[in-house]
Amino acid sequence: PTILSVRDDTLAVLERLGVPASASAFAEGGGETGLPARSPIDGGVVTGLRQTTADEAEATLARAHQAFLAWRRVPGPRRGELVRLLAEELRAHKDDLGRLVTLEAGKILSEGLGEVQEMIDICDFAVGLSRQLHGLTIATERPDHRMMEVWHPLGLCGVITAFNFPVAVWSWNAALALVCGDSVIWKPSEKTPLTALAVHALATKAVKRFGADAPDGLLGLLIGGRELGERLVEDERVALVSATGSTAMGRQVAPKLAARFARAILELGGNNAAIVAPSADLDLALRAIAFAAMGTAGQRCTTLRRLFVHDSVYDALVPRLKAAYGSVRIGDPRDPATLIGPLIDGTAADGMARALDEARAIGGTVHGGERLRDIRGEAAAYVRPALVEMPEQAGPMRRETFAPILYVTRYTELEEAIAQQNAVAAGLSSSIFTRDLSEAETFLSASGSDCGIANVNIGPSGAEIGGAFGGEKETGGGREAGSDSWKAYMRRATNTINYGKTLPLAQGVTFEV
Ligand code: NAD
Repeated sequence: PTILSVRDDTLAVLERLGVPASASAFAEGGGETGLPARSPIDGGVVTGLRQTTADEAEATLARAHQAFLAWRRVPGPRRGELVRLLAEELRAHKDDLGRLVTLEAGKILSEGLGEVQEMIDICDFAVGLSRQLHGLTIATERPDHRMMEVWHPLGLCGVITAFNFPVAVWSWNAALALVCGDSVIWKPSEKTPLTALAVHALATKAVKRFGADAPDGLLGLLIGGRELGERLVEDERVALVSATGSTAMGRQVAPKLAARFARAILELGGNNAAIVAPSADLDLALRAIAFAAMGTAGQRCTTLRRLFVHDSVYDALVPRLKAAYGSVRIGDPRDPATLIGPLIDGTAADGMARALDEARAIGGTVHGGERLRDIRGEAAAYVRPALVEMPEQAGPMRRETFAPILYVTRYTELEEAIAQQNAVAAGLSSSIFTRDLSEAETFLSASGSDCGIANVNIGPSGAEIGGAFGGEKETGGGREAGSDSWKAYMRRATNTINYGKTLPLAQGVTFEV
């Protein structure tokens, strides 16, 4: 039961979030070329935005660089106070921001709210961290000396984000960067500028409440296309670029950052797998697989895309999965009964159709996968998730298609299943469903899954912020969020102090003048 039109709904939420109708005011000034803000719910244009011009981008960079020079001198726990205020704003506006994520990215309501909760969680984590940015004191080989390492703020951080986590990824980076003493410029996806404007409005409120210690330009926002991302990548003042998106994007960004020795956190594509072993709890596995493969309409970097099912349980599991694929509720993500919302746009649906054609051509049996044009018309891209039984891992199963396709094959030996799971270019997330301790530990061992995330009896999607998040190989190797990911946002200095009256040299070297 949806009452408001998508456009009216979005404009009302934006107003409650403090983004005025002339939203371009938040985009660090205006620009010549327009950027249409669309909703995938009906594929329509909600409003037009002005893009940030090259001059405005330069001004934003200059201000953020200056802001860093001041912010790095503010004590860490005081910087944490700003993030605490940001979390307060997010708590107060959770419902509206979550709904805006639903309206602009097409996530179902609980996932939109979940994304905002993730922002709150990382802020809480960062506030605690602001008192724990500690180094080590290390035993020195020289008498009357002390050796220690300290962590200093790094510089201006550029954050480039993808459409599918339009708000959480900024906060994973920004909350840590802020307590680490860095300034931040955000280049959100051109497909989700409104959520970025709303977050920027809330962050600006937090900065105002914080007071004069927060320098002007501490948090910048660039609204527009990839050329603004390139600007961050190429500018010498940007010490670290954290870029989330496709591996194709990472391939362009990484060499440019390497060429100027800038730091990179790359969070790129995934082609995540799960193994269902003979001893698996099939009821639990079924629910985990359904959420991981179909949830968010298959548009998570951690979405389950490949399933290796042991021959002995294949016929007990796969028909039940097929039934779940056939009956899952697809529709307007604002309807609480909906489990699968739309794809971001028609291009994504075309990509899905192409992958399914390729799979059919090499012997895959496709269940579902059709475009559902009757839900909200031609401009929206609703699809039924596809389950594809494959004779072997081949063709489109070997790459990421950013849509709800789950390829399934049989296996007989665990070693072979692990080898197959690792035999793709991406290395983000992975799971095994088993009650056999030896199988679980083998999967988690050095010769097991080669991914940044490896789970037992949990699907590959849906990480908590307490752990470090990221993946290996073509996923880019970056780590964000919890554990010691904060170290990427700081620079380490090793200090040795001689408090004696002699000058002993390391390694026993003598040098008398
Ligand atoms: P995308 O690569 O099309 O765009 C991502 C961002 O990069 C956008 O802001 C875009 O403007 C910018 N960009 C593109 N080319 C650039 C360039 N040459 N220089 C600088 N910036 C550039 O990705 P998308 O379609 O928005 O998102 C989907 C992809 O993101 C999927 O592959 C998904 O797996 C991946 N993703 C990864 C993670 C992760 O943490 N590993 C998280 C979310 C999404």
